[in-house]
Amino acid sequence: MSDNSRHDLDHGPIRKCQACGFDGLELVIDLGHQPPCDSLLTPAQLDEAENTYPLRFLRCPNCSLAQIDYAVAPEVLFYADYPYRSGITSTLAHNLRSTGFKAIEKFLLNPGDLAVDIGSNDGTLLSAFKEKGMRVLGVEPTNIANIANENGIPTIQRFFTQEVSRQVREEHGLASVVTAANMFAHVEKLGSLISGVESLLADGGIFITESHYLLDLLETVQYDSIYHEHLKYYSLKSLIRVFSEYNFTITDVDRIENYGGSIRVYAVKGRNLPISETVTRLLAEEERKGLYTSAPFKVFAERVRKSKFDLQQLLFNAKANGKTVVGVGCPGRSSTLVNYCGIDVDVMPIIAEQSSSLKLGLRLPGKHIPIVDEKLMFEEQPDYALILSWHYWRPIVKNLRAKGLKSKIIIPLPDVRVME
Ligand SMILES: [Zn+2]
Repeated sequence: MSDNSRHDLDHGPIRKCQACGFDGLELVIDLGHQPPCDSLLTPAQLDEAENTYPLRFLRCPNCSLAQIDYAVAPEVLFYADYPYRSGITSTLAHNLRSTGFKAIEKFLLNPGDLAVDIGSNDGTLLSAFKEKGMRVLGVEPTNIANIANENGIPTIQRFFTQEVSRQVREEHGLASVVTAANMFAHVEKLGSLISGVESLLADGGIFITESHYLLDLLETVQYDSIYHEHLKYYSLKSLIRVFSEYNFTITDVDRIENYGGSIRVYAVKGRNLPISETVTRLLAEEERKGLYTSAPFKVFAERVRKSKFDLQQLLFNAKANGKTVVGVGCPGRSSTLVNYCGIDVDVMPIIAEQSSSLKLGLRLPGKHIPIVDEKLMFEEQPDYALILSWHYWRPIVKNLRAKGLKSKIIIPLPDVRVME
């Protein structure tokens, strides 16, 4: 059994690197105290106090992991009515399913093999394995587990722990593949998670994780993907560092477009296994781009500040000239952007979401902007529409125009620009 204590965090301030334990973390940018980005408020909650926590972005000069330095309790972040549902965005659903199909092809998985998805949300990823005749099991802490179960994807409503791992092993046998798409950067007890996966997998089994990729985050100025749920921002080098302490070898890596740029990493159970050249090539690129030095982080911080000032100037001028502004889309990251840039209801009175969204009627944390059905926006035709899911701006803008939106469109990042 691997010793995983170092990779298990407690709530509160984080003093040392979450991957290597180095205690000389360097501050890249301070985004201020912010509320948890998915803690949308009901109108009744506006009469209560709202908690905020530090949101600072730091880098480790030793192992290159970027990270925040405060862990909010997971029960606060991933409460039972957590509103995020992966199947709802069609691009995302497609990408999640392709993770399953790719794994089957790459590792010759067979019908009847067991696939387990951790943080399985509504079961979208597992549906791909199921379609190919594999046995599937989801582990999901929020009530979205009910939607998965209703859709025929068996799902345990729990956080994944060593105990859950043991329970699954006893009831279903060893897994051929375990996936963790976009939750690997969220998890507080990372050591327990990896050890739990290690004991759930058969020898030669694969653990596939997907995380935001640090290089994409820096190059496209995605500071809005920095929020409390994301404790870590991985380089490939730092992921290798983490897995080196367990019975795994990272044998392969894909860069994928999810969430504005992610890496999908294949860790095979066993040590010192043959490594694909995708791994050596990406490590060389990280090195070449200076990802192990402070230089790209300094450029990033400057660009973040500039984008903030440019956006403020644009919006405040628009308001001063009597123009109307509406936000479009309300992903978790919109909270970081809106709160960091100080955009309040006086500037942007509503955020429009599609009619099927579970967020309608709620308020954005911090600035308390009401989230409304997008029909209202199409009726009102505001002067400006600020795209908050800007990392998917192409299909979104196309869709908005097709539905008849005439507003000028603002893309806030990586540099602020306005489309007529
Ligand atoms: Zn480190």
